Amino acid sequence: MRILVVEDEKKVASFIKKGLEEESYAVDVSYEGEEGCYLAETNPYDLIILDLMLPKKNGLSILKELRDKGINTPILLLTAKGSVEDRVAGLNAGADDYLAKPFVFAELLARVRSLLRRGGEKSPVLKFADLTMDPVTRRVTRGVVDIELTSKEYALLEYFMRRPNQVLTRTMISEHVWESDFDTFTNVIDVYVNYLRNKIDKGNEKKLIHTIRGVGYILKEQND
Ligand code: CA
Repeated sequence: MRILVVEDEKKVASFIKKGLEEESYAVDVSYEGEEGCYLAETNPYDLIILDLMLPKKNGLSILKELRDKGINTPILLLTAKGSVEDRVAGLNAGADDYLAKPFVFAELLARVRSLLRRGGEKSPVLKFADLTMDPVTRRVTRGVVDIELTSKEYALLEYFMRRPNQVLTRTMISEHVWESDFDTFTNVIDVYVNYLRNKIDKGNEKKLIHTIRGVGYILKEQND
């Protein structure tokens, strides 16, 4: 899952980026409002963490602009402590949640996970066929077998599990699992999908990750 952080305090921004990357999220950072707004409009982020007080364009304007343009990416606002008006204005303008500064990373992470759960799912554990993934403990199992994944393999599987039974093109995968400086001309995606297959499907009669020739990949139950 790919996250945009728009925050001008470099210390805070790098603290968030580092923490989220340790949780296998792909993170882009912008330190000012105009660029942040542009990035948010031109990339399919899964979540945006938006500071309110920003140079060039403030968070509330960005929020309004995105919602006016029909961009419904979940947005978590970072607000100053105690500013009730900011929170109310933000929520009224279409923010999904807010967090007052200063905050502890564990709370930010809990809110991020909650916002990434889509379509009203309440359980944090992702399930598909006999595959389960717990984003809190990061435990992945297939049937009764525990599967050890690297950070990137984990991020890739999470994306598959949040979009089951959908054809995922290489472009979609690169846009949701890798940062913006990712070179789409490499075969890195195919390489990582193969790593993942070796761990998830190898030795299993029922394959879950399938290739759609010339297009990309799909997580589904039926064998081809
Ligand atoms: Ca700020």
